[in-house]
Amino acid sequence: MASELDSTSPALRVAIIGGGIIGRACGRELLRAGFRVRIYDQAGSLPGGSASAAGLLGPVSEFLAGDIPDPLIAAGIESLGLWAEWGRQLGDIGWRRAGCLHLGHLGSDEERFTRMAARAGAHGLAAQMQEAGALRNIDRRLKTSADAIGLFLPDEAEIHANAALAALRADFTAQGGEWAAVRALRIEERIGAIAGIHDPVDGFWAADAVLIAAGAASRDFADLAPELAAIYPIKGQLAVLGALSPRLATVLRFPGGYLAPKSDGTMLLGASMEPDRTDAEIEPAILAQLHAKLVAVAPGLAQLKPAHGRAGLRAGARDGVPQIGPLGIRGLWAAAGHGRNGFLLAPFTARRIATAMAASFGLRAYPD
Ligand SMILES: Cc1cc2nc3c(=O)[nH]c(=O)nc-3n(C[C@H](O)[C@H](O)[C@H](O)COP(=O)(O)OP(=O)(O)OC[C@H]3O[C@@H](n4cnc5c(N)ncnc54)[C@H](O)[C@@H]3O)c2cc1C
Repeated sequence: MASELDSTSPALRVAIIGGGIIGRACGRELLRAGFRVRIYDQAGSLPGGSASAAGLLGPVSEFLAGDIPDPLIAAGIESLGLWAEWGRQLGDIGWRRAGCLHLGHLGSDEERFTRMAARAGAHGLAAQMQEAGALRNIDRRLKTSADAIGLFLPDEAEIHANAALAALRADFTAQGGEWAAVRALRIEERIGAIAGIHDPVDGFWAADAVLIAAGAASRDFADLAPELAAIYPIKGQLAVLGALSPRLATVLRFPGGYLAPKSDGTMLLGASMEPDRTDAEIEPAILAQLHAKLVAVAPGLAQLKPAHGRAGLRAGARDGVPQIGPLGIRGLWAAAGHGRNGFLLAPFTARRIATAMAASFGLRAYPD
């Protein structure tokens, strides 16, 4: 039977490569599981994604519209629930169950909304169809047209992404985690097992396990784990709009974009999907396209112009399913390839890694 991690013996050492949302979330749960944890975070070979994110937690919006495998949908729903807990534990990270209103038009979007509502219901989540009159009552400032329709998803939530990143890092170091603002150069393997990490400052840090959570740069480690060659960059750009007072009560989604009213008053209009781009340049033409898509469903918001932009790289997985678990070498793990949903899936990923890694050492991560 698995035993608890024993506080009298030296803690097992885990090095995490990457301090984006996934590395920080995993750091949190691995510490709670009793490991000694060191996070390496420094500009990798590709820009990261977390600092650009909108912080939407939308498993229905993201997963129920398309052809997504059931376990991933369940993971998204579980993770949404875990964020409510984390929101209480981490302090002010802007967590709120804002819900999400999908806007569209009769004819072009009706069938998609009906299908999504049915799938949401099958997963026990609420989804309410809205007709034009009801939409106008939700927020008159949108000035939706007479043929507009909507689908409201009250269970969805959002956080302030950068506040969550800062809170997770502060909590990690307060709980005894080590933060190394340095690039992990090489993972050392000895006779089929992980030995540690080489970096340009401290040289070598011995580790019992290494978790690769380096976002799109995770593929840099494909020499040790060929599975990681399937990770690829997807550039995303979003526009920061001027504030709307009072702020919109809910997140809006529409064909090709979303508008997220954040707790600090900013409105984030996102986001482009540009596969295999490796730069983080902000292109005004892309921001203008996002704005045009917003105005097509909510003409009343036309005066809210992009003030500036943000860009980053998501880590995509060719089959759309993130890699969360052990790799071929003993002690080598990955948590990468979360695509558009790294924030949503972070608590789920972290719990799964902590539980499975503890079990791999014959231990129990969360004793009853
Ligand atoms: C515009 C945009 C909007 C988004 N909006 C949302 C959203 O609303 N909701 C949502 O759930 N997701 C959203 N995402 C997706 C989300 O941001 C990503 O899924 C998430 O950032 C993935 O986190 P990560 O920790 O895996 O990777 P990253 O955030 O890329 O972090 C990896 C880190 O590893 C570091 N690193 C790389 N190599 C090394 C090395 N050798 N040594 C040390 N450090 C290294 C990098 O510098 C980086 O800091 C959005 C993404 C973008 C671009």
